[in-house]
Formats: sequence, C-alpha cells, structure tokens
Amino acid sequence: MTPTEPTHAGTVYLVGAGPGAPDLVTVRGLNAIRRADVVVYDALVHPELIAHAPADAERVYAGKRGYCVGSTLQETIHEVMANRARAGLTVVRLKGGDPCVFGRGGEEAEYLAERGIPVEIVPGVTTAVGACAAAGIPLTHRDETQAVTLVTGHFDPDSPECKLDWKALACAGTLVVYMGLRHLDAIAARLIGAGLDPETPAAVVCRGTLPDQQVIDSPLTQLATAARAAGAAAPAVIVVGQVVAHRTRMMSLVAAQGAVA
Ligand code: SAH
Repeated sequence: MTPTEPTHAGTVYLVGAGPGAPDLVTVRGLNAIRRADVVVYDALVHPELIAHAPADAERVYAGKRGYCVGSTLQETIHEVMANRARAGLTVVRLKGGDPCVFGRGGEEAEYLAERGIPVEIVPGVTTAVGACAAAGIPLTHRDETQAVTLVTGHFDPDSPECKLDWKALACAGTLVVYMGLRHLDAIAARLIGAGLDPETPAAVVCRGTLPDQQVIDSPLTQLATAARAAGAAAPAVIVVGQVVAHRTRMMSLVAAQGAVA
C-alpha cells in the first residue's frame, strides 16, 4: 500500500457476471453484488443481476459495446472505482463472462492494486464455456481434440494490429473466437488458407444462454454466408472444430439441463 492511501479503503470486487443468463453467476459473485455500495457494470450484464444490489446502491453504467474505445473511458472507469473505494465503499465491478477473459479485468486489477486498493477477482463462466454448453457443443470432446483455444477476433485479420498466428490456430484443436462476427469472412479465409479443412464443422452462437439464443452451424467455408442469411448479430462467438459435429447428439442433454432452471 502506498503511504497516501487510507487504510480503510473499501474492496473492489471484479465479478464475472457469466455468459448471459442471470442465474449463471457464481454464488460468490451474487453475494458480492448483494453487499455492494456501488455497482459499475458493462453493457452485456443482465439487468436482473444488477437488481440484486441493495436499493440504495449507486449504479454506474460503464458500457462500451464493441470494445473499441480509447483510453479515456477506461481511465474514467478506473477513477470511479478508485474514488469510491477510497471513500471506504464496497465496489462491485460487474463484467460479462469472466472478468479476465477479454475483459480488461487484468488492467483494472493492476490499476487498483498499484494504488494500494484491495481487489478481489471473482471468476465467472466465460462465454466460450457457457454458450457452447447451451448450444450442445462439447468443447473438448475426447474423441476429437485435446485442446481448446480462446481467440479475439476484434482486429481485422488484414491489419497489422492482428497478431494471430493462423498456422498455429489451424492445428490448435477447438477454436472459440470472441468479438469476431464482423470479420468472419476473413477469419474463415485465413484459417482455410493456413491449412484447416474448409469442411470443418463450425458454428456461430449469438446471445448464448439467453432465451433468444441463436445457433447457426455450417462447414467453415460457408459459415459467413449462413450467418448473414440467418441475420446473426452480436454478441456472438464463433466455434470451429470437429466438436461442433456433436451438437445434434448433445441437444437432448442440453434440453435436460434447461429443465433444471
Ligand atoms: N469477458 C467476457 C468476454 C468479453 S468480450 C467473457 O468472458 O465471456 C465480448 C464478447 O464476448 C462479445 O463480442 C462476444 O464475442 C462474446 N459474448 C459475450 N456474451 C455473449 C453471449 N451471450 N453469446 C455469445 N457471445 C457472447
């Protein structure tokens, strides 16, 4: 702790809200929300989760759909959390999925920790796991793959900002691409160009785990066309790999799982 920090600073809980459905948050995450003085939440967080905060808790919207904002908004979010914590308040920073999977949770935790503010990370079910479970895709079915790779598709594959090694990805097992719908044509072309079979089973899962979830599956080479025809829209993940072929067989299980809720 730096000498300038008060010793009574409140804790900031970086909480994963889960992949969409509000009852997929962890018990620890829900308990943190129920105790919060301040909730700082992102665009993809379900309103029902925020409703669990005490009625008089401050609610701060920190949404940035598209994740393409500059540093200004991120700086503001950092300052809001730090100021409230310094005032001794318990802050819950609620982020979709898991806070540290393409969620800037690492940056936020570092910012706070460097200033001596206590931080606790509460993991969440990341979209790859939640959306694939809800779509009947067994991410690492043992007959098909020994690996799963989480990829950001945010950057245009043709831009220098994109640092992905397509050859490595083409033989990496199951791939789950976040934020990639906009670049789906180019992503599929890069993977196929790097040696992946164009007929590899693939899917787009939109609004995974939510009541209006939409799944489009198709061989990789036709996935972008199929997704457009179906009107696929963000938030969505792209799943590529032989495991997607197990989807139909898994659907009865998924129906059983839905019955639990
Ligand atoms: N931290 C989050 C990811 C944030 S990046 C996590 O662990 O899941 C935002 C991206 O996540 C979206 O662009 C989309 O690719 C994916 N995403 C989030 N919610 C989703 C949902 N319900 N269905 C499909 N994809 C989703």
